[in-house]
Parts: sequence; C-alpha cells; structure tokens
Amino acid sequence: MNITYACLHCEQTTRAEFDENSTHLTCQHCAAERKIPEGAVTANNVSRCLACPSEELYLRKDFPQRLGVAIVVTGLAASCIPWYFHNWYGTFAILFATALIDVVLYVVMGDMLQCYRCQAQYRGVPALEQHEAFSLETHERHRQQEARLAEHRHPVKTE
Ligand SMILES: [Zn+2]
Ligand SMILES: [Zn+2]
Repeated sequence: MNITYACLHCEQTTRAEFDENSTHLTCQHCAAERKIPEGAVTANNVSRCLACPSEELYLRKDFPQRLGVAIVVTGLAASCIPWYFHNWYGTFAILFATALIDVVLYVVMGDMLQCYRCQAQYRGVPALEQHEAFSLETHERHRQQEARLAEHRHPVKTE
C-alpha cells in the first residue's frame, strides 16, 4: 500500500509505502517523519487518514481529471477538421471515439482512496471497496469545519 500526501514540514507532495507493521511515514524530500496513528492500518485496509486527523476516506476512481479533459478537448479540436470539410460522418466518428476512449479509460483505471480533509491519496489497498464513495454531505461537513478552524486562527475583526 502507498500514500501520496502533502508533507507538513516542507509542504511538498510525497509518496510513502506502508503496511500494517509501519510506524512512520517518511517524506521523500525532507525526510520528516509522521507517526502513523495506532490501529489505523491492518493487513489489507486503512481505517483512517494517516496524514491528518481526519477519520474519513472515500472511494474514487484513480483517474486524473486533467487527462479526461485533455482527451475531450483534443477530440473536439480534431472533430473540427472533418466538420470544416462538411464530412459529418468523420466529425461524429471522432466525437464518438473520444467518448469511447474516456469511458474505456474510466472502466480500466483502478480505484483509490482519498481523504476528505487533506486530499491524501491511498493506492494498493486490497480491501478499499469496503469504503464508501464520495458523499457531498461529508465533504461539506469537512469544508465547514476547515472554515471554522481558519476563522479561529485568523479571527475576523468585529469593530
Ligand atoms: Zn517533507
Ligand atoms: Zn487526511
């Protein structure tokens, strides 16, 4: 199993391997160590986030959104060429192929877990399907909690 997270010390994105015997995550850039909460990792699952205090992770496709967008943009641009030559079949063939590539990639790509709070990503977790998919409600709760904490750190002046 491995985790991709933002190091608190150097603020860079780093990746660390871990298993149920690991006690620390080590940053690849600055070697800062972060203690893994006790009982958080079992032989085939993670029960909570290892990079922040959050206990909630959600299941998502390991599909880079930017790649999906890039494919669609490329397909749209390419379909303009036959469109220009009034080749409607060519235009629709390209658009259809673009959509198909997106769907196939989406199906082929594996799953991963992501933390609601710090966006840490977990890959190679065998029992990840035991986690629930993204819930807007939980996301909103975390967002509001973050906003309250931020306000606490930098209180709004009330003069
Ligand atoms: Zn670091
Ligand atoms: Zn987290």
